[in-house]
Amino acid sequence: MIAKVEPLTTARALRGPFDYLMGDGLVADGVGVGSVLVVPFGPRRMLGVVVELAETSELDPSRLAEPIEALEADVPAELVRLGLWVAQEYVSTPARGLALVLPPGTGTGSGRPTKARESLAASLTAAGHAALEDGTRLGSRQRTGLEALTDGPLRVSDLARVSGCDHASVRRLEARGLLVVERTAEAPRRPTLRTVGARGPVGRLTADQEAALAQIVASLPRGPSSGGGGVPEQRFPSGTGTPPPPRTAPPAPEPLLLHGVTGSGKTEVYLRSVEEVLDRGQTAIVLVPEIGLTPQTAGRFVERFGDTVAVLHSQLTTRERYDEWTRLRGGAARVAVGPRSAVFAPLENVGLIVVDEEHDGSYKQEGDPRYDARTVAERRARDCGALLLAGSATPRPESVLRYDRVRLPERVDGRPLPPVELVGMAGVKGPLHQRTRDALEHVRRAGEKAIVLLNRRGWSNFLTCGDCGRVWECPNCDVTLVLHKSAGRVSCHHCGHRERVPDSCPDCGSVSLARHGVGTEQLGAELERLMDPLPVFRLDADTATRGGAAEALERFEAAEGGVLVGTQMVAKGHDFPDVTLGVVLDADATLRFPDFRSEERTFALVAQLAGRSGRGGSEGRVVVQALDPAAPALRLAAAHDADGFLDVELTRREALSYPPYGSLIRVVCSSEQAAPAKAAADAVLGLIRAAQTPVLGPAPLFRLKGRERFQLVVKATDRAAAIVAVRTAVETTVADRSLGPVKYAVDVDPQ
Ligand code: ADP
Ligand code: ZN
Ligand code: ZN
Repeated sequence: MIAKVEPLTTARALRGPFDYLMGDGLVADGVGVGSVLVVPFGPRRMLGVVVELAETSELDPSRLAEPIEALEADVPAELVRLGLWVAQEYVSTPARGLALVLPPGTGTGSGRPTKARESLAASLTAAGHAALEDGTRLGSRQRTGLEALTDGPLRVSDLARVSGCDHASVRRLEARGLLVVERTAEAPRRPTLRTVGARGPVGRLTADQEAALAQIVASLPRGPSSGGGGVPEQRFPSGTGTPPPPRTAPPAPEPLLLHGVTGSGKTEVYLRSVEEVLDRGQTAIVLVPEIGLTPQTAGRFVERFGDTVAVLHSQLTTRERYDEWTRLRGGAARVAVGPRSAVFAPLENVGLIVVDEEHDGSYKQEGDPRYDARTVAERRARDCGALLLAGSATPRPESVLRYDRVRLPERVDGRPLPPVELVGMAGVKGPLHQRTRDALEHVRRAGEKAIVLLNRRGWSNFLTCGDCGRVWECPNCDVTLVLHKSAGRVSCHHCGHRERVPDSCPDCGSVSLARHGVGTEQLGAELERLMDPLPVFRLDADTATRGGAAEALERFEAAEGGVLVGTQMVAKGHDFPDVTLGVVLDADATLRFPDFRSEERTFALVAQLAGRSGRGGSEGRVVVQALDPAAPALRLAAAHDADGFLDVELTRREALSYPPYGSLIRVVCSSEQAAPAKAAADAVLGLIRAAQTPVLGPAPLFRLKGRERFQLVVKATDRAAAIVAVRTAVETTVADRSLGPVKYAVDVDPQ
């Protein structure tokens, strides 16, 4: 048997898969697609993933090497295909695509999955005791292994260490009934999750929720398909054996978009849909925006389904993530809840994939592979016959165009959405309009709660010298440094460069330094003064480190009255029933960015923030400050007119062939000096053009992290062809050593 193995290497040039000859031992151990192997590679050893099994090799079998060992780590074959697909679709490498689907920790540190074997223990059976006494024929390793167990059970990994009885021998002894291998009683540690505002089961669904749920349930795939049971049996040491022959799965249901206004009870609909899927013996994946910022939703799932839920998020240690991964893989947990990476949860027989708050930008990964979890979810659902259910109050034009819509047009409590007032800031001194001040004062007197959004952190945007006009800029990036007063620093928000706050100008010695613009830090201080005695809680990237976000949200929730002030983090799907005022500052700042998604972002930000206000028993009110309050995206958001906005936006996108009517691919070439990056960009451009694919550029971008950058943009109607053209062009250019040290970043569907 030949195993085709993709090496887990970061070298772009090294492309597998490579053929290895599997000995009988590995075959007997069930090594198959998805198994992780240690393989010899020239003089080195490497980890690799089996991506295919074959009877024969095109190479001379006598020259093929054998794998050294199989690790106790295996990935469902379906996920191997998904990882490889991500690598292709996002112009990355197979190793990087596969890394997404492997058990957490694989390939890092010791190169092994985190403490994988600790959870397996071997103990001697009565037959094993007897075999040591009665002269049963045993290999020498087997004998020392059994002898080592006479004092009591041992971890399988320890057994190998103390007695030299390796996994294959353990496996054989187990097959002969001389020992048993079991998961140790030591239960995997469950991470604790802060469940801000998890509110217990709701009584009855509203009529709208009932109707939505019925529509969703009608779309769910029928029960477990024949290929895999709901709960895969424990396997040891690895592998799924030969992958099942491709079964003719029934076609996947069409994706659905749950378009429900803020506060319409979407989460409850997800919960009941998942319940239905579990009842049918299937499993479910629920994607949520960053868990640190939206602990509520994940909390509700844990509260409803208990240990059946595994939560996968970045604030867990590798060990905790590994344990959760294992619970999913072994069938102990059947619902995976987590941010974008949870789309790769090792579940089989998935019946439903939910993407909550599907408009959220965090679904896009920033590093290579720059995958979009929403697109991956769609692909995975299609491949495994599951229903994709995306939900939002402000869905993306992409989803509206392509998915069938299920609607929740009203809030659960029947309250209207809060009135939104747009106020113009032209000529206003200071960060707050008089209308905003009045509204805040009302909240202060009544001891109520307000949320204030300003999408800019720090104290002031930039510093200048009052005498010579010097502007403090980042030495690595062409941007200004932002003042962070309490930290005593000016810092770059792109590369992290920091300097102490200057007390004089290095150019002219003047001490009259001017601060411009207001960020959340300064606004927070201003609000503390204005809102006294109400407490003010700040939530932005500076305060949200290490659980700080959940803490701020918890304290805001527990407070009688108070103000939550921060960046867009405050507009995520939080559900606080007693917020009476929402404020957005500089709401059209996003519109001043030259990006085709500016309108969409602005609309979503305002509509989402508005959605936090007036829930539960309280009346809500919203004030939106903007330089140009007449901007259509703002007017439509103020009118809560998502359909109107989507109509306008889709028409505009169609006229310009922007997504969803075309696909964009961005290629950025960068180097320390401009010349190599420019030459590389020109070369890539020429190759893409030669492939009959329209492309724009190269356009210089601002210098970032000490690198000059040039950008190409492909706007394609034939997405697949464009991806191939870009991949070929980049790979050809990478291979051209004459261009010097250039980095290439390819972003398919850039955000
Ligand atoms: P959305 O995600 O649509 O903004 P949520 O799912 O956060 O809305 O629900 C808003 C609030 O309504 C939550 O506090 C939730 O517990 C409550 N809720 C949901 N469904 C019902 C119901 N059928 N009856 C009463 N309250 C409900
Ligand atoms: Zn100066
Ligand atoms: Zn910088």
